[in-house]
Amino acid sequence: MRTVIVGAGSAGLEMACMLGRDKSRADDDVILVDKGPTHIWKPLFHQVAAGTLNSFQDELSYLYLGRRNGFRFELGPLKGVNPDRDRVRLGALHDQAGEVALPERVIQYDRLVLALGSEVNDFGVPGVKEHAYFLDSREQAEGVHRALLYELARASVMQRDQRFDIVIVGAGATGVELSAELSYALDVVRDYGAGVDRERTGITLVEQAPRVLPPLPEDLAGAVQKSLTEALGVNVECNAGVAQVNQDGVVLNDGRELKARMTIWTAGVKGPGVLAESPTVETDKRGHVVVDRHLRSTGDPRIHAIGDCAAIPMADDGGLVPPRAQAAHQESAYLAKRILKGDTGAGGEPFLYRDYGSLVSLANYTAYGKLFSGGTRSLSIDGWMAKAAYKSLYRGHQKTLLGYPAMMMGVLVDRLRKTVEPSLKMH
Ligand SMILES: Cc1cc2nc3c(=O)[nH]c(=O)nc-3n(C[C@H](O)[C@H](O)[C@H](O)COP(=O)(O)OP(=O)(O)OC[C@H]3O[C@@H](n4cnc5c(N)ncnc54)[C@H](O)[C@@H]3O)c2cc1C
Repeated sequence: MRTVIVGAGSAGLEMACMLGRDKSRADDDVILVDKGPTHIWKPLFHQVAAGTLNSFQDELSYLYLGRRNGFRFELGPLKGVNPDRDRVRLGALHDQAGEVALPERVIQYDRLVLALGSEVNDFGVPGVKEHAYFLDSREQAEGVHRALLYELARASVMQRDQRFDIVIVGAGATGVELSAELSYALDVVRDYGAGVDRERTGITLVEQAPRVLPPLPEDLAGAVQKSLTEALGVNVECNAGVAQVNQDGVVLNDGRELKARMTIWTAGVKGPGVLAESPTVETDKRGHVVVDRHLRSTGDPRIHAIGDCAAIPMADDGGLVPPRAQAAHQESAYLAKRILKGDTGAGGEPFLYRDYGSLVSLANYTAYGKLFSGGTRSLSIDGWMAKAAYKSLYRGHQKTLLGYPAMMMGVLVDRLRKTVEPSLKMH
């Protein structure tokens, strides 16, 4: 039996490791596909963008992880799914001269798991694609970092009447955490003596809803917003819809203009466009794969979808499971368990998403969280305790990929690195 998992992010990679490691399935074949050769956990992308995390140090090779965990890896972008013939089609890989390094390929599957994540949604706002930066892939996060370094160089020689402003559109967790991380980066650059006058730099966070972090509890969002504005000096503009993005910044629906050298769009996501090339995989109006509560595609029970690319019904209220790493982890664990039991039919316990709470990190400064134990009671935390809980999410992911001893070694190595390396990557 061959299981092909397409997309090696939080959901797909964890699942490949869980399936591949199970020795009782020696005859079974697990193939993991991704368009890139290495993995960086997506919730770290805002740190890659700001330069507070070195992506070259934290990345893990899929080939290595496959060797370690017992799955095969195929490099290439998904181009389409053909369920009639149980095949997925992968695009070619080109070298720097444009020559084909790996040709187009088809891979046969007995069971297919789609775990492609999401794509940026510009909601049709003019100028977003042309003038905004995004944070949806490692390349985009590194692109933000490169642009930031050039802008900092420019800012170090700017005239007295000039400013370096960054506008971030969308105050969900990604936008909020990015604004804090960039604020920290600007502080560090000032301390490095790079000649950038902090008084003439600014970060504005724009949100259409009345407050930051719209899907999260109000008291948590309130504490975060207060900290952003009062302690970090981020300018927060709520009730502010964006009408247009241009090379000078953004124009709001009420006609106001926010000048910016860099505009970063973190306002929303949609399903992967490639699924439109596979009409037999049913998607909803935002391009997510429609699945039942056993995570099976409604169109074909041999196709499953997990993570951000899937529209997974909640148990009770008709809503959908939120696009979060926490949910991706639960979905991959649920589906791996079912596959390992040989039970991927319509029977058995359906997937039940458990919200264990929310954690928001404000760079090195602080973090806030609200934890749920499963019932109605909750615990609000902040400071070092919230920071430790936030970091434990990444450690949990590393543990699934590498095992407990290697994860603990990683903690030690990171501590040692901190003592010898600068806190900001300036190259
Ligand atoms: C900056 C940032 C901060 C975040 N912080 C948090 C947080 O604190 N807590 C939290 O719970 N969630 C957070 N999230 C959300 C979280 O990262 C996602 O919900 C989670 O990564 C979804 O996992 P996934 O496997 O579905 O998608 P991803 O992790 O995005 O993985 C998708 C994979 O599919 C691959 N892929 C895509 N298209 C193709 C193709 N055509 N062919 C082959 N491969 C393809 C990609 O290369 C990628 O490896 C954050 C997101 C961002 C951007």
